[in-house]
Amino acid sequence: MPVAASNNYWDSFDEVSKYNVHLNFAEKLWAAWYAYMQNDVLATGIMSFAMHELVYFGRSLPWILIDSFGLFRQYKIQSDKIPTAREQWNCAKLVLLSHITVELPQIWLFHPMAQYFGLATTVPFPSLWTMAYQIAVFFVLEDTWHYFLHRALHWGPLYKAIHKIHHQYSAPFGLAAEYASPIEVMILGFGTVSCPILWCAITGDLHILTMYIWIVLRLFQAIDAHSGYEFPWSLHHFLPFWAGADHHDVHHEKFVGNFASSFRWWDYVLDTEYTPESVKRWREKKQANATSKKAN
Ligand SMILES: [Zn+2]
Ligand SMILES: [Zn+2]
Repeated sequence: MPVAASNNYWDSFDEVSKYNVHLNFAEKLWAAWYAYMQNDVLATGIMSFAMHELVYFGRSLPWILIDSFGLFRQYKIQSDKIPTAREQWNCAKLVLLSHITVELPQIWLFHPMAQYFGLATTVPFPSLWTMAYQIAVFFVLEDTWHYFLHRALHWGPLYKAIHKIHHQYSAPFGLAAEYASPIEVMILGFGTVSCPILWCAITGDLHILTMYIWIVLRLFQAIDAHSGYEFPWSLHHFLPFWAGADHHDVHHEKFVGNFASSFRWWDYVLDTEYTPESVKRWREKKQANATSKKAN
């Protein structure tokens, strides 16, 4: 793309538009950003960090308002536990601190890593269909990673050392999605980042925009699953294998079962789905194990 360095973003945009009439508006904005920055690592780093903050706090905002104004109270899952403004503020401060100290330095490694594995940053963008099926694959892969690693984090020593922080809120709210130990953020976040990278290493076909949209949707999923609200119009009523708040809220309340992030199948297949019947079954199994141990 023949674009010269420019002092002003909109000059870059005009320049890009002049030489690339075939691009759509979003593609021009994108190309102009890289042309304006003249430093791809910085361009990707700043865009990634800004996107994460905007989406995380932007998506949490409606839930904060719903809690503060007492809206939809009839749909609150643990209706007696409304987070106070102070609780939400303390949580937001800690999440922001960990974004700046732990995630920001890592985001700077993102572009070199993306380049190493051959992610495209160029325009035109991939087709909607390509982005949609790739994102569906990432959801399935990440959910698997999350299930097993999250389940491992509930093993006594790991729970005490790492995962306990995330369980500080037994009635979660949107902002609490990333309220966790930096080690946990790294372990579970690894699934979010490495699933697309693995895909790209195998197929050689992934655009960084697809990766961004995936991360945005994964953030939406995590925040909504922690929202504490279950609506008649929640997604799992239409997609029965979708997890949602209905699935994750009880994990925070009971500290057991429902380990997956986006889907219900792993918990169902490996008998960790939290239902009154399964609790009874788990208890009986535990008792049987204890008796057989005594007998030996
Ligand atoms: Zn947990
Ligand atoms: Zn959680």
